[in-house]
Amino acid sequence: MTRPASGEDARSGMKRIFGPVPSRRLGLSLGVDVVPHKTCTFDCVYCECGATTKKTCARETFFAPDEILGELDRWLSSAAVKPDVVTLSGSGEPTLYARMGELIDGAKRLTGLPFAVITNSSLLWMNEVREELSRADIVVPSLDAAVREDYLRVNRPHAECTLERLVGGLETFLASYRGTALLEVLLVGGYNAGEANLEALRGTIGRLRADRIQLNTAVRPGTEPGVEPLDGETLERIRRTFGPRCDVIAPAATRRRSREGTVLEETILALLSRRPCTAADMCAAFGAPPPVVDEVLKKLVTESKIKAERRGDSLYYRR
Ligand code: SF4
Repeated sequence: MTRPASGEDARSGMKRIFGPVPSRRLGLSLGVDVVPHKTCTFDCVYCECGATTKKTCARETFFAPDEILGELDRWLSSAAVKPDVVTLSGSGEPTLYARMGELIDGAKRLTGLPFAVITNSSLLWMNEVREELSRADIVVPSLDAAVREDYLRVNRPHAECTLERLVGGLETFLASYRGTALLEVLLVGGYNAGEANLEALRGTIGRLRADRIQLNTAVRPGTEPGVEPLDGETLERIRRTFGPRCDVIAPAATRRRSREGTVLEETILALLSRRPCTAADMCAAFGAPPPVVDEVLKKLVTESKIKAERRGDSLYYRR
């Protein structure tokens, strides 16, 4: 699955909160990371966060909910920008967090914002995970393969996370889920983009009650050499065979660019399409140093993507 880029902590001292970062599907998303770095049920070849260091199916309370909610409260009380959504995501599998339901309820009460969860779907066979996840407003589950060999090759799951469990759990969850479900399918050439898997995926997806199917590819470098994105034409051809609910969410050109610069540039453009901000607002919101933000702003003004406007003593940027 792909996660909204975590970027840097928005405030110094913030350990579990990151962003906000622009997400093509969720808007301006404030991330909450509730598992230690690379604690996951999978070790996907395309993972942007590096190799999994703890592969597990055991749910744990890695951090106290009060500690996470306290950070969220502090972030909101000093925020220069209001996010559109709070998202449970990060550098591992968030459904491994044993008190996820309690955290979702607490965060919704505290922020009044919609709550989203990005999950690799591997633990949906557990009743308690389905029950806790049902409290989120938006769920973005993944399904990269419906053929066992491709599943093992691309996701490299924990032995207890079988494909049968994943598909069964996903089907059961989506059948009764009342929020918005955006099913992501990430395809990587040489791993899970062969015709046998695509055919099996079409059959499985046809049975799932997802609102949209979002086709993606590995745009950024993964953990294995040779993980390359599918080109836009191939993705578009596959999309047409996946039916009217399917969109391609990979960037049109699926080309690699400088990660940090691109993320910050996209972040700034997404923010400014919502409201004018000063450079200081953006430094505070993204935790980025002023020279870095200034350089990106200068580039965007030169390219006429944004405008600078003086109001009183402040210089505002807007799209
Ligand atoms: S599910 Fe895959 S992509 Fe997501 S954190 Fe785990 S290893 Fe990385």
